[in-house]
Amino acid sequence: MASSALPDLDQLRPAGTKRSGKRDQIVNTFLKQEGHLSADDLVDIIKREDQRISRATVYRTLQWMVTAGIARKVDFGEGRFRFEHSYRHPRHFHLICKTCNRSFEFLSSDIESLVEEIAAARGFTARQSVVQIYGECESCQAGRAPQSEGAGNSELLFARDAMRIAIATERSGREFYTRAARLVKNVRGRHVFEKLATEEIDHLERLEARYKTLLERDPELEARPTFLFFKGAANGLFAEGAELLKKPGMDEAEALRIGIRCERNSHRFFKRYGEKFEDSEGKQIFLEFAEEEREHLDLLIREYRALITRTHGRRRARTAKRPAAKARPRRQSA
Ligand SMILES: [Zn+2]
Ligand SMILES: [Zn+2]
Repeated sequence: MASSALPDLDQLRPAGTKRSGKRDQIVNTFLKQEGHLSADDLVDIIKREDQRISRATVYRTLQWMVTAGIARKVDFGEGRFRFEHSYRHPRHFHLICKTCNRSFEFLSSDIESLVEEIAAARGFTARQSVVQIYGECESCQAGRAPQSEGAGNSELLFARDAMRIAIATERSGREFYTRAARLVKNVRGRHVFEKLATEEIDHLERLEARYKTLLERDPELEARPTFLFFKGAANGLFAEGAELLKKPGMDEAEALRIGIRCERNSHRFFKRYGEKFEDSEGKQIFLEFAEEEREHLDLLIREYRALITRTHGRRRARTAKRPAAKARPRRQSA
């Protein structure tokens, strides 16, 4: 995990530009803000810190930050731009309340997949997608005063939701392997599933401990609205596999094949999204998790191959006595 709280400004500075104390001060102040600031909001904050910095300098620095990729410019249809920092700030879409003018961030894998699909179908290279949903927020509809402390830090929300998805996956994985271990008669096969169930429990404990640590960073974190919407992953990526195990006639080979499919999907899911996210804690969680799932996947594939070889070995030994029968190897499908 990147330990520095702020980016290295020297690295971000475009070639040929000078170091400026004022600019660094403005950038650092901007990066400490949450939410979506107008240029004037930032001027007010800066002026409170240092009267000597001019409005023009703040404007110029904001423009520079947009070019350098530190800030993103967002248009909520108010006739002026707002700015949010992109450093360790996950990519997201916006819900914008036209009554209280607050905005809420979220990310949806389904929207992103749809955008990719459409762009691909039209041979279009998408660089940026902006999704803004205008309407009225829950507090305004209920006539409650909006909570002033805002919607919370999106990076924390992202990490929270990434962990929730990983935890749900581990829970469904534990369920899957426990069920598979009960089902398999063969001692060796049962051990493999028991080992995986134990590993899932161990991962689960580590994730839950990490989740608790995360909650300490914001007392409201648990109650804040969902940021990451991952329809397929919400119930755990093994939930479907665990259901399939209930089918009559389930044997070790079939259970292994289902396990392989689940682990492969889970590995791909966490890797694909982990790689797409901007540098953040959520990204780290996804990538670490993808790696653990890959180890499980490798173990299952090895086990499946060993099982096939074993079954074949036995079959070959049996058929060897009958000279007419040809021991034709069964094709592996895993
Ligand atoms: Zn509102
Ligand atoms: Zn935003």
